[in-house]
Formats: sequence, structure tokens, C-alpha cells
Amino acid sequence: MTDLQEKIKVMPKAELHRHLEGCVRVGTVVDMARRHGLKLPTFDPAGLEDVYKLRAPGASLLEVLGRFELAQASFASYEAVERITYEALEDAYNKENIRLLELRYSPDFMLKEKRLDWQKAHDIINSTAEKFEKASNMVCGVILIASRSYGMGSALKTAAFAVSNKKTVIGFDLADNEADYPSSLYTEVARGLAAAGLPLTVHSGEEGHYSRVRETIEELRPRRIGHGVKAADDASGALMELIKERGITVETNPWSNYLTRAVPSVEAHPLKRFINAGLRCSIGADDPEILDTHLNKEYALAVGRMGLSLEDIQYTLKCAVEGSFLTPDKKQQAAKELGVK
Ligand SMILES: [Zn+2]
Repeated sequence: MTDLQEKIKVMPKAELHRHLEGCVRVGTVVDMARRHGLKLPTFDPAGLEDVYKLRAPGASLLEVLGRFELAQASFASYEAVERITYEALEDAYNKENIRLLELRYSPDFMLKEKRLDWQKAHDIINSTAEKFEKASNMVCGVILIASRSYGMGSALKTAAFAVSNKKTVIGFDLADNEADYPSSLYTEVARGLAAAGLPLTVHSGEEGHYSRVRETIEELRPRRIGHGVKAADDASGALMELIKERGITVETNPWSNYLTRAVPSVEAHPLKRFINAGLRCSIGADDPEILDTHLNKEYALAVGRMGLSLEDIQYTLKCAVEGSFLTPDKKQQAAKELGVK
């Protein structure tokens, strides 16, 4: 390991953009399949890695979805929900030294296969996170996701579920397929969340035209944007200016953007440009197990190939704390752990 890699590894970190469905270890996929009689292309974990982990750009959407289906099938029981949540927390804490973790999941996607009860599963996820938090110096919280492609009924149902669980849900996210389900469709959802005081983040500008990001900001007024890379395509700089003006935190996920071809290369990722323009930015891993990444790798890419300095990394940590949906006391604890003022 180089000095830089070592430095990055021990650095306390913050993660605002991580999907629980993307945190299922390959060994757990195999265990769950065995226990619940599920089909797998192979039961050898090393062999399964090749079909489960996306390692290079260029996979078709269908191939990517197939990987998420393997993860989805693993949420086969309440016990599985608890185990996967615990392992996600453990990996974040031990492998990456994360001290502020926001985990998000889409109940309609994650619990669909086995028709698990949303409330029961959510209570398990929340209590597992609470227990982990008490036994460690990592603060965490749970964000609920509405998957756009599941339609309006699903989005409204998920938002109502989030509102009725306000005590254990820190925020809300709108994810997937922005091209076919633009943000302007979801103003009613956003209004309901705002009335309940639940902050919103939106996957936007991961694909398609940059005007989608403006639409997201104007129609939904989110506190944060997931990905947002397309905002850099507006050569006038007006869109970046709008993001800055509104104080929106951009949750970037560089390796994820490279794998899905949202950016042509790691080097072309606009994170450094965003920082130079004064935008608030955080660095996330999105789906660490499926995308074969973690924050140690993301930070190393940022410094080694995207032009960030270690001071820039520290700036992203400060932005993460300030943009976090956690309670002020948890944010204060995280700021101390991360050494940001
Ligand atoms: Zn995401």
C-alpha cells in the first residue's frame, strides 16, 4: 500500500449516498440462496463475483439489473434484512472507517420479492442501525427511496410510509430512470414531504440532458442531489451557479458514474470543477458490493485521477456533515470524529 492509500484508509469518512440493496456481500447472496432454495448461476462465491460485481463499463442495462436482482432476492426473510443491514454497517465502519453513514433503501424494490412487511422490515433496519451506533463512534440514519419506475402509486405510498415513520427516517430520495419519469411528475410527493418536514434528495443529472437538473431543483426543491454530473454540461455555468445559490449538496459517486458511462472516464468526472465553482459536494460509493467499490477507492481515485487535493477531500467531508439529514447532535458528533469545523 502506498503512503497515500494508507493515509486515505485511516482517514475518518462520511457517506451520504449508499443503497442498502447495493451492500449485500457475495457470500451473503450465496448463503441466502442456499437457505431459501433460490437459484444462482453458481454457488461458488468466487465464481459468482464475476456475474454479481460490475467491474468495467459497458454492461447493458439488463445485465446491471440482473445484479440487483441477485441482491434483491437475498432479502428473503426478516433475519436476512437484519444480517444484510448489520454487514453494511460493519463494512462501512471497519473497512472504510466511516463515521457518518446515511443508508438508503427502496422498500418497494427491496421487500417486493418475498412480500415482507414494510413496517416490520423497517423497524429491524432501524434498530440494527441504532444498536450499531450505540456500540461504536459512527452516527447513522436511514433514508427511504421511491423508485421512479415503480410509478406514482408506489411513490405516494413510500412517501406516506416515510411520513408515518418520521421518527426513524431522516430523509427521502427519488431514484432511478429520470429520463422516462421526470421530476416534474413528483411535485405532489415533494409537497407532502416538505409539509411533514422530511428533507429530500433526488437522483438527478446522472443521465440525459442537464436541463433535468434544473427541473429537479425548480419543481422539487431538494436539499441535495444524487450524482448531478450532467450539471457540468451547461457550458454557461448557470446551472452550477443555481446549485451553489440554493446551497444544494451534490452527492457525487465517481466510480459509479464511470461504470454506468455517465462520465466517459474517471478523469472526466466534474467533481473538481464543482468544488472550484464553490458547490457543496460529498463523495459516495453508491452500491459498494455490486459496483466493486468503497470510499477508500473513491478517495484514491479523486486524489490520484480527478485532481482533488487532500484539502478538497476534507472540504467534501465538511460538506457531508453540513448537508447531512441527521439530527444536529449527531452531526456535531460526526464533525468531531471527522475533524471538521
Ligand atoms: Zn444512487
